[in-house]
Amino acid sequence: MITASPAARLSPTTPDWRELWRDAITDAGELLGAVGLAHLADRLPPADAGFALRVPRGFVARMRPGDAGDPLLLQVLPQLAELDHVPGFVADAVGDLASREAQGVLHKYHGRALLIASGSCAINCRYCFRRHFPYGEEIAAAGQWKQALAHLKADPSISELILSGGDPLALATSKLEELGRGLADLPQVTRLRIHTRLPVVLPERIDRPFLAWLEALPLQKVVVLHANHGNEFDSSVDTACASLRQAGATLLNQSVLLRGINDEADTLAALSERLFAAGVLPYYLHQLDRVQGAAHFEVDDARALALVEDLRQRLPGYLVPRLVREIAGDASKRPL
Ligand SMILES: *Cc1c(COP(=O)(O)O)cnc(C)c1O
Ligand code: SF4
Repeated sequence: MITASPAARLSPTTPDWRELWRDAITDAGELLGAVGLAHLADRLPPADAGFALRVPRGFVARMRPGDAGDPLLLQVLPQLAELDHVPGFVADAVGDLASREAQGVLHKYHGRALLIASGSCAINCRYCFRRHFPYGEEIAAAGQWKQALAHLKADPSISELILSGGDPLALATSKLEELGRGLADLPQVTRLRIHTRLPVVLPERIDRPFLAWLEALPLQKVVVLHANHGNEFDSSVDTACASLRQAGATLLNQSVLLRGINDEADTLAALSERLFAAGVLPYYLHQLDRVQGAAHFEVDDARALALVEDLRQRLPGYLVPRLVREIAGDASKRPL
């Protein structure tokens, strides 16, 4: 039997992802105009509340025109509420600055080292801790990954390497190939995990050269997507997911519980069903990191627990994500 390689499933006319990246909307007024909400421009905070707007046009196309409460729009549109200073919401909410071990390396949990592989994202999510992280000096990919690889080599307990960011797939495929060559030297690393939102927000990133690299990598591969709402999926995302699976990756998803976006049991159940339809299992549902400027997205713990209990009664167990919170200094994500 002849099976199409993952790359062959992609149309040769797919535009280059770097072009689509550069073509993202970065002006809040333009975004509102694109979704038929130009009349709301006077509600925007000055200077994007200090965190630039960025959203790929393909993601904008999945928003419902004329709906100011659209769950995709609310994830990216700057809000006046971001200017509020709310006690308990701080710049480094998860203690990342305290757990650096080498350039771009965070090693908090046993057996797993996390690399801040890149400081860039194709989309800027308003609830993200990244709005305050000083990425300038902290990119593991700098200097041919030298410091990060040396750290891994010195610690035989690390069997899983996690690429995070920012978005690690913001890196050129040639940079990933460089890392792959470095890992050939590190037999104790048997798993590569990639945490990325790009297959969802810019699925064209999952292109032939990337898939060829992933498929050839002699490691177990896990890709953890980051989608918060079922509406983030369309056929282009399904194609990216199918290609990743064909290249040998296990697909998981993590979401952030966000007030007004996905804090209804119907919405979360629909997200789990949509993920599974794309071949993705729900992994974590995160309580919001308490970052400055994101307080208006917080859902209290009692409501979060009630939502997950509701999901448990509606869905098979494997479609119920684990509700967790990240606490600085803990040895794992903390289940609620
Ligand atoms: C979240 C995280 C991990 C991964 O944790 P899992 O529970 O294995 O998903 C690893 N390292 C760091 C620093 C993290 O923040
Ligand atoms: S790190 Fe993830 S959540 Fe944060 S801005 Fe980038 S894509 Fe969005």
